[in-house]
Amino acid sequence: MSLANRKVLVLNKSWQAISVVSLEKALKKVAGTYSDGTPKAKIIDCVNDFRSFTWQDWTELKPEINESCMKGVSCILRIPEVIQYTRYDKVPKKKVHYNRRTIYKRDNNTCQYCQKMKNSEELSLDHVVPKCQGGLTTWENIVVACTDCNSKKAGRTPKQAGMKLLRKPMKPKSNFFTGDIRIESWSQFLGENYWSIELENDNS
Ligand SMILES: [Zn+2]
Repeated sequence: MSLANRKVLVLNKSWQAISVVSLEKALKKVAGTYSDGTPKAKIIDCVNDFRSFTWQDWTELKPEINESCMKGVSCILRIPEVIQYTRYDKVPKKKVHYNRRTIYKRDNNTCQYCQKMKNSEELSLDHVVPKCQGGLTTWENIVVACTDCNSKKAGRTPKQAGMKLLRKPMKPKSNFFTGDIRIESWSQFLGENYWSIELENDNS
């Protein structure tokens, strides 16, 4: 995995996993300080005993054999996999915005009728119960459909059109993440909520 694609798990002060960010963003957080000089976040050493390190201390660590490394200005650095906020102890509730992108994400870019995975351009949104029959524009009544299925179904319900939905559309939980990034050291902090950790938008 290239450094640009590396992800870092973020824990709050109480060791709860709260987000996943790019390596670049994680390093910025570790470099940030409060007005009294305390670092905003520290790097957790998952290989050893979960000690936390400031950036300065981290640069003095020697990489373990077989460990993935990155080149610093004058040294070889271990790549942080987990960071922890030093003061922040909340678990932010993130709202899932209702928009085309989140519906595509929820349905995994897969037509909910023929089950084919397609590029976004070949997909459209379908009202399960069509608008002309009183169907609402809600999480529970909108699915992703390919253009073929969408035009075949037209202004009919799946039943009327003799088509079957892959699954019942639902509103996603408040936090959801369906990426496939899995770093072994994270498992120690992620129980069953693994799939509910939101992958933070790197622009945010
Ligand atoms: Zn289809």
